[in-house]
Amino acid sequence: MSHHNVHIHPAVDDGVKPGSDAFTGGKLHCHCDSDRVEVAVKAQCAHNHVCGCTKCWKPAGATFSMVAVVPRDNVNVTAHEEKLDVVDSSAAIQRHACRGCGVHMYGRIENTDHPFHGLDFIHTELSDDTGWAAPEFAAFVSSIIESGADPENMSNVRARLNELGLPPYDCLSPPLMDAIAIHTAKAKGVL
Ligand SMILES: [Zn+2]
Ligand SMILES: [Zn+2]
Repeated sequence: MSHHNVHIHPAVDDGVKPGSDAFTGGKLHCHCDSDRVEVAVKAQCAHNHVCGCTKCWKPAGATFSMVAVVPRDNVNVTAHEEKLDVVDSSAAIQRHACRGCGVHMYGRIENTDHPFHGLDFIHTELSDDTGWAAPEFAAFVSSIIESGADPENMSNVRARLNELGLPPYDCLSPPLMDAIAIHTAKAKGVL
């Protein structure tokens, strides 16, 4: 297998499409045929990336999820909120999933001490609106092995991510890892 036929995620497998600087948000819909959950997002997303962890929702057949953040005040459930359940209430990110189709509509951090408190996690592929900021990197790449990816194929996966302009990291990107360390340093009084 060469790296050219490695599948990452349907939204990037044909190349990463650039977002629009003028974009100010859109609507997300779950995958149900009727009574779809709708979430209105009144902001452009930030830090969009593909993620290899086992917790993020991903479409059937995808190796990675695609996930971004927006300020939580810009996220509102506008239809069928009654279908949403929190996937794991003990997790740092409370992922609100549709009971009908299993799609995660948004993830919210309720712990005010968490470095990313105030940001909600969203999957922009759930939107028909175009202009969402494009994914910029790949996070938790090694974790795809935990979902069954072939460990022998990891160099092809990383080569394909680099080819797509999505530098692969086995944690978050350096700016986000720095943000977490800065938060921790300030909490300790070191900064
Ligand atoms: Zn649904
Ligand atoms: Zn993830």
